[in-house]
Amino acid sequence: MSSQKTLGILGGGQLGRLLLSASQNLLIPTLILDPSPTCPASQLLPSPSQHIVKPFTDAAAIMELAERGADVLTVEIEHVDVGALRGVMERYDGLEGRRKVEVHPDPGTIEVIQDKYKQKVFLRDAGCALGEFVEIPSGQKEEDAVKEATEGLGLPLMLKAKRLAYDGRGNYLLRSSEPSAISTALSALRGGTQKDLEIYAEKFVPFKAELAVMVVRSTTGQVKSYPCVETVQRDNICHLVWAPYPDSSAGDRARDVAEKAVAALGGAGIFGVEMFLLEDGSVLLNEIAPRPHNSGHYTLSIAPGASQFENHLRAVLGLPLGSTEIGEGCTAMINLVGSSSSSTSNAGSDSTSTTSNTLATPSLDTALSSQTTRALQTPGASVYLYGKAECRKGRKMGHVNVSGPSRGEVEGRVKFILGEASDATQ
Ligand code: ATP
Ligand code: MG
Ligand code: MG
Repeated sequence: MSSQKTLGILGGGQLGRLLLSASQNLLIPTLILDPSPTCPASQLLPSPSQHIVKPFTDAAAIMELAERGADVLTVEIEHVDVGALRGVMERYDGLEGRRKVEVHPDPGTIEVIQDKYKQKVFLRDAGCALGEFVEIPSGQKEEDAVKEATEGLGLPLMLKAKRLAYDGRGNYLLRSSEPSAISTALSALRGGTQKDLEIYAEKFVPFKAELAVMVVRSTTGQVKSYPCVETVQRDNICHLVWAPYPDSSAGDRARDVAEKAVAALGGAGIFGVEMFLLEDGSVLLNEIAPRPHNSGHYTLSIAPGASQFENHLRAVLGLPLGSTEIGEGCTAMINLVGSSSSSTSNAGSDSTSTTSNTLATPSLDTALSSQTTRALQTPGASVYLYGKAECRKGRKMGHVNVSGPSRGEVEGRVKFILGEASDATQ
């Protein structure tokens, strides 16, 4: 199936790469905007002319995507210049013989989401269930405002940067209301460089599990959601995803919460909705991503459903949405996150490696090389490497999806891949 429209993607990281891969299956001509000449998506492009090597925060570069023929712009990251996206829509408005360029998701939605505090206020006003939170006005009285927040919301208290946060960078768990602890927290959040960083505080949610649901809405208004999954974070970074969440009644409630939250936001595309499940069974929203999401990578290995990447493309191009059914059994996703900051050339040098079962992946650190080597030996597992040139601590270098007939069986396979069991059946 081919589309007449050309797609422009802001960002060429792993999500851009996986979107591009899906667009190639549908024969959708695609342009990438990313400042790195060797970004993960660029490696899949048939021609370098499809890559604009400029920042996706640069208004002129965003306009260039439209000038070079993109009919639909979409994003792999929400930290983009929303004004520039609106500028494209104004210049290419389809009126009086002018070309029309669409932007999905809606810039207004991206604007709400890219400021976590604004997002929380918006969702609360829309009637969504959220934990308590308060703004921390910056300036001289900031430390007093944090102290007041600890009195109102208790300890520990989650302090969060309003903008540019990901993988927990921008979060700080404050455990004491002593002035020295507050001042340490504020300096840690600012990292010495971001003097104007604005923050807010969230009440700590003692969750039983973290859940996530991908919801997709087409330009035609068609809406579908994938089943609820459990996400497990390690050091604030998504480590594992289990699909589906085994308690189907909690999963259905989460799906309902996610669909209602996305209904409050405008625009087409896929949305990743992160939630907390509490001991009493209630579900609170954490945050929403207006794009494909790490918790939806498992959808690359579901049958008979379409992946989150394919469904995002179908949604923004106005094509019929694919199935979101995930079939029988269980699928887990393991993130391959760098544990050391060095770029090494000793891929596959661990004891489980041989030349025949090792991928040539020079940028993976030793631990990740071992995990990919074991994944290649595991039934039901598929490996996705992103092609990042340098491995750094906390950097997502790839992921492994592993499926099996039951949760127990998949748990054994995951333990083996992580090096916690000596064979996949333990
Ligand atoms: P992402 O990479 O998902 O965008 P992020 O940097 O935006 O992450 P959050 O999702 O806000 O960060 O938080 C990261 C993790 O920190 C959550 O998945 C959860 O484990 C924990 N967390 C966040 N907020 C709270 C809270 N209010 N109470 C308890 N834990 C929390
Ligand atoms: Mg986030
Ligand atoms: Mg998050």
